[in-house]
Amino acid sequence: MASFHALIPWNPLSRPNSTPSTTNRHITFFNFNNGIGTHSFSCKIHGGCRFYWNYGKSFDLYASPSSNGNGFEAAAASAVKEYEDDEFIVVNFYRFVFVKEPEEELSKHLLFMKDRNIHGRIYLNEQGINAQYSGPSKDALAYVEWVKEDPKFSDILVQISPAINGHAFPKLKLRYKPSLVQLEEGISHLPLLDPSMRATPLTPFEWRSKLEDANKIENSLDTSNSNFVLLDVRNGYEWDVGHFKGAHRPDVDCFRSTSFGLSESETEVRPSDPLADADKEKTDVLMYCTGGIRCDVYSTILRQQGFKRLYTLKGGVCHYLENEGPVGWEGNLFVFDSRLSLPPSTYKPEVGSQQQVPHSFAKCYICLSQVSELRHRNCANLDCNLLFLCCSECVDGLRGCCCMKCTCARRLRPVLPGCQRYQKWHTYRDVELQSR
Ligand SMILES: [Zn+2]
Ligand SMILES: [Zn+2]
Repeated sequence: MASFHALIPWNPLSRPNSTPSTTNRHITFFNFNNGIGTHSFSCKIHGGCRFYWNYGKSFDLYASPSSNGNGFEAAAASAVKEYEDDEFIVVNFYRFVFVKEPEEELSKHLLFMKDRNIHGRIYLNEQGINAQYSGPSKDALAYVEWVKEDPKFSDILVQISPAINGHAFPKLKLRYKPSLVQLEEGISHLPLLDPSMRATPLTPFEWRSKLEDANKIENSLDTSNSNFVLLDVRNGYEWDVGHFKGAHRPDVDCFRSTSFGLSESETEVRPSDPLADADKEKTDVLMYCTGGIRCDVYSTILRQQGFKRLYTLKGGVCHYLENEGPVGWEGNLFVFDSRLSLPPSTYKPEVGSQQQVPHSFAKCYICLSQVSELRHRNCANLDCNLLFLCCSECVDGLRGCCCMKCTCARRLRPVLPGCQRYQKWHTYRDVELQSR
């Protein structure tokens, strides 16, 4: 337990904007203004509490009502205990910060991982760290707490979500990587360590307010002020299972080739580029991605292109859903691990899973009919392996393949039921050999 302790008074300047409420999992969630800015607050029933200052610092706190009822006592906690020790969780975090000796740093991390049950992708280099991994919570949390003991990583924003079927990654890849994020020309030349070159981060609450304001203007008759672009900085297939209302489907299949706002001349303008005719001085560009890292990277490119009013959703959609729930969001969130797609209730259980309404944007890749399950599947042809959304009729008709051609492929796997994932090829190959 860290030593930070504070009494935060509820005077007229810091009145909560909403009444604290009790649910089975979270005690309370509300926003308040203490005269410095608006802060959002969410408390967990175990007493763990996250406290977000709008200038970008975040603390894990324990909070309880003060004795006179006019405020709450807050004390910083080293870990938010929400999961049983052996419950599997997925942890995501990243930080752009200068690492002087990345190889040396790496060997410390490798040493810490010894005898710990962690699978995932953890990359380090001179520009910082990018980590996505799974494990039983005692190991998974021990690692992130250990990372945070280093002052250069102390204020990382950590996203935690449950992994119901054990590990969400096949093995641990912990290594030096020249690019923390894959982009066509690499990212080592980008000014990632200079916050002024990145977009202005908005807290989930600020993001929500800004979107709501923008939509109000959009819906009013006077559209002269509607100078904003909501930019989904992910891949098309991620948009397909869920996105912020009003965001256009990105015309890319991997972040590597993202090119919004890069049209050099008038003749080259691509119709699918939402920034093609945006005024670089006046347009508010609201960018979002899953966890925030792609926006941080891409915003430095847009800065270099001359865009002045860049905003990003701090901590990405994960952080937003955790704090605001699915307000303004429709569908699920695509994730890059074996879970593939998570409903908003994963991040904010009190939301419930009432989102059973079919989403008209979710279409079968093959017949274009509406799909009820917002989850991709891999093509049954191992050598294609395409991730695609598919209706149940087409799954049956093409035996889990993405097209007729794949149904005749040599390395064909069986149709997977429900939301299972394919295992390693040898499991299917060996079954085939046995049956001969
Ligand atoms: Zn279909
Ligand atoms: Zn295929």
